[in-house]
Amino acid sequence: MKTVHLTKTSDDIIVPKIFCLGKNYAKHAAEMKSDVPQKPVVFMKPSSAIVHDGAEVSIPAMTNDLHHETEIYFVIGKEGKDIRKEDARSHIAAMGIGLDLTLRDLQTELKNAGNPWLISKGFDGSAPISNAVPVDGVDFNSLELSLAVNGKPRQQGSYKNTIFKIEEVIAFISQLFTLERGDLIFTGTPEGVAKLNHGDKLHAELIGYASLDIAIL
Ligand code: ZN
Repeated sequence: MKTVHLTKTSDDIIVPKIFCLGKNYAKHAAEMKSDVPQKPVVFMKPSSAIVHDGAEVSIPAMTNDLHHETEIYFVIGKEGKDIRKEDARSHIAAMGIGLDLTLRDLQTELKNAGNPWLISKGFDGSAPISNAVPVDGVDFNSLELSLAVNGKPRQQGSYKNTIFKIEEVIAFISQLFTLERGDLIFTGTPEGVAKLNHGDKLHAELIGYASLDIAIL
């Protein structure tokens, strides 16, 4: 089972499941030629998709268009069902920076056919994550993310621009799914998603808190 490393206790904890949000930044929804959603767009990756800092990710043979999406993620610290928005924060243990790697050509084909896009977003290596740092005392609205590819800036974003905040997302998801300790919630990407090529070196940051380096083989 794949794990996430919590820096606070130096524990590697098992990740039971990974939730992700689609179109959670208005400018990314616009670049995807989509409307801003009225409720959270939720999908999952299997935890087998996780790789850690320093990983090398292969481009699957099935695609010609592997995209980066840089996303802040949160780690659930305490199990819960039907969690109220007001109580959601107490269920979050940690945060970090991750990549929602996406086979865009395959995703577009699947979406156009009205089919689930799982295989375009859940493949091995599709969820690189940094170590996770404690959220104690952190004002989420101050969080900023960035991605550089081969040293050149590619994406930057501010959590305050997310459409659905993590507390609301936890309240929404937990009406249907039990949130378990170690579950990850990826909070969506800001604009600037683009294609990756063989040999690219990615450096993502949750600025001031965590960083992640991966290479594309
Ligand atoms: Zn994403």
